Amino acid sequence: MKENRIYNFNAGPAALPLEVLEEIKDSFLNFGDSGMSITEISHRSALFDDVINDAVARTRRLLKLDDRFHVLFIQGGASMQFCMIPMNLLGPSDTADYVNTGTWSTKAIKEAEILGKTISVAASSEDKNFSYIPKNIPFNKKAVYIHITSNNTIKGTQWASFPETGGVPLIADMSSDIMSRPFDAGKFGLIYAGAQKNIGPAGVCMVIIRDDLLKRVPDKLPSMLKYTTYATKNSMFNTPPCFTVYMIQLVLKWLEETVGGLEKMEQINQKKARMLYEAIDAGEFYHGTAETASRSIMNVTFRLPNETLEKQFVEQALKNGLGGLKGHRSVGGCRASIYNATSLEAVEALVDFMKTFAQTNG
Ligand SMILES: *Cc1c(COP(=O)(O)O)cnc(C)c1O
Repeated sequence: MKENRIYNFNAGPAALPLEVLEEIKDSFLNFGDSGMSITEISHRSALFDDVINDAVARTRRLLKLDDRFHVLFIQGGASMQFCMIPMNLLGPSDTADYVNTGTWSTKAIKEAEILGKTISVAASSEDKNFSYIPKNIPFNKKAVYIHITSNNTIKGTQWASFPETGGVPLIADMSSDIMSRPFDAGKFGLIYAGAQKNIGPAGVCMVIIRDDLLKRVPDKLPSMLKYTTYATKNSMFNTPPCFTVYMIQLVLKWLEETVGGLEKMEQINQKKARMLYEAIDAGEFYHGTAETASRSIMNVTFRLPNETLEKQFVEQALKNGLGGLKGHRSVGGCRASIYNATSLEAVEALVDFMKTFAQTNG
């Protein structure tokens, strides 16, 4: 562990690679020999063009996107996409399917309903407190899209593989697992991810949209709410959050050049998750809250024998340099978010702490 830093298990905003933070610090006052910081240069400059174009190019390479896909940066977080998706893609006689796997899916459904759009909840895991990912879902073949949340940040579940949709474009909220593993983008019409979990700081949502869905965007929508505005202006219809985009560029560079791509990243992520789940399953003291087959490799949720012990666990962990282990306020318990930037070393330190804590208090 570096001096003055802790092992960070926050759910979002979350840990960023130390190499990236140091690069920012070193180049901050004189970005690209401009004599200015990245927060002071024009977004219309060649310097910033290079930043945003490189971020897009790296996203294309990492996710193996073909030419049909556009990579956009839109403000308003992932939450803004909950309304932009139905506004842009669902006409008056269209319908879409949603799978409800937790808090964020529920919010996506609610926003579509506020707009008065026709949608159906094709499956839900609410019956068991969202502790699993539904299987064999009867999707509507006439749906314009099928919306899923690939990783459920709060409930600690994740789609291990993506559902068969019979050709209907899949839309995924990948806020908390984008760039954590390779996947076939071919099934997807749209992928979105708030940056602050796995690819950067807060301030922007990455939106990857396929050409055929862009054609659905109606003329009569405010410019700032239309995907076509961002696609035709390289995400610079107005001033983008330059600093956030720059940090994303550096995180993606780290992923490609230091980690070595998404296959490597997934191996590391699988290893981290395995170590933690083994520690949870080792005895009676810890209890995982997600069904085994649906467990997330990004957000590991667990309970202790009672709430007093959970509180002590979180407090003592922090005293030992392990931060961010409190579960989401809506569910309680404990949660270790182990995104890409959370190192193997951090997880080893947490597992050691968990063993000691269980021995002392079990
Ligand atoms: C954090 C999160 C969101 C909300 O993101 P904002 O950028 O704060 O709007 C949405 N979906 C998922 C899966 C998340 O983890």
